[in-house]
Amino acid sequence: MFKALVLEQVEKQTKASIQQLEDSALPEADVVVKVDYSSLNYKDGLAITGKGKIVRQFPMVPGIDLAGQVESSHDPRFASGDKVVLTGWGVGEGHWGGMAEKASLKADWLVPLPEGLSAQQAMIIGTAGFTAMLCVQALVDAGITPESGEILVTGASGGVGSVAVCLLAQLGYKVAAVTGRVEQNSQLLTDLGASRVIDRAEFAEAARPLEKQLWAGAVDTVGSNMLAKVLAQIDYNGAVAACGLAGGFDLPTTVMPFILRNVSLLGIDSVNCPSAKRVKAWQRLAELLPDSYYQQACSEVSLEQVPEYAEAITNGQVTGRVVIKL
Ligand code: NAP
Repeated sequence: MFKALVLEQVEKQTKASIQQLEDSALPEADVVVKVDYSSLNYKDGLAITGKGKIVRQFPMVPGIDLAGQVESSHDPRFASGDKVVLTGWGVGEGHWGGMAEKASLKADWLVPLPEGLSAQQAMIIGTAGFTAMLCVQALVDAGITPESGEILVTGASGGVGSVAVCLLAQLGYKVAAVTGRVEQNSQLLTDLGASRVIDRAEFAEAARPLEKQLWAGAVDTVGSNMLAKVLAQIDYNGAVAACGLAGGFDLPTTVMPFILRNVSLLGIDSVNCPSAKRVKAWQRLAELLPDSYYQQACSEVSLEQVPEYAEAITNGQVTGRVVIKL
């Protein structure tokens, strides 16, 4: 038997309840994992409250992220006791996810937990931190070095943005952090490594096709006019890693930054990221994030508290990361 948060559809409403399930209820897959920690992302909040169309079939166990130990495996790559981490792959959306004491998963989806990283730390990082690492790696791969100039991070106090600020600073880049909450979050952003904090309001005006060149590169979690503005301000040969749509999914830009300044727009997806790239990204996260990162705002909650926190995260009332101890 194992405990799980189960989502069901009752009269077109999503209903979440804690249930004790038989092991035979687990979906068929290669590896059974005893989950130690999961995390609550905005996407999980949308799934659990039913506010977003995330879940593709019911009943569903939510949880797009999990970390734990292999209980049993039909795949030679994993053995009982191995520590693993999983993010994405549609887990918690189309396949039962991490908000349960056990999960049955495809071996291809699992990443060995890097040496020195605990399951709790892996879930403080979660999909958000993993996505930030992919963005930073994309800028490094595009040839942007600390000597190239300053890097801009938008949505900087969010889950992805805050880790991007920290990772870039750890790698020696000078980081400018854009936030809509300057007063509230300046200290946090500076502690994470930002050398300056810029008010989002300075990016509010519609972007011109080309503006003054200010940034060697950028990590954009916002999209829409913010991304258009950033593209117009990127240096010749610069690059922008775009992963989010916190400000909207449109992109009111022109081809000018691309054809006149050789600017690259690098798309970042964490959900279907190939396995080898995942393993490398998790290794780098374990190496680069300082202890102080894990001590920033993080709430640890029980499975029973998840529905309440899911409502709060969708109402913008949660600060920092929420990890779930199973
Ligand atoms: P988050 O914690 O909600 O952070 C988003 C941040 O964006 C907020 O903290 C806020 O930062 C800023 N923001 C919010 N609304 C805005 C608006 N209307 N205009 C400008 N800025 C705004 O979310 P997250 O987990 O960091 O995710 C960021 C984005 O990346 C989301 O769109 C998410 O869907 C996406 N994402 C994509 C992937 C992928 O695989 N591509 C993976 C994870 C997340 P400030 O308060 O500092 O301004």
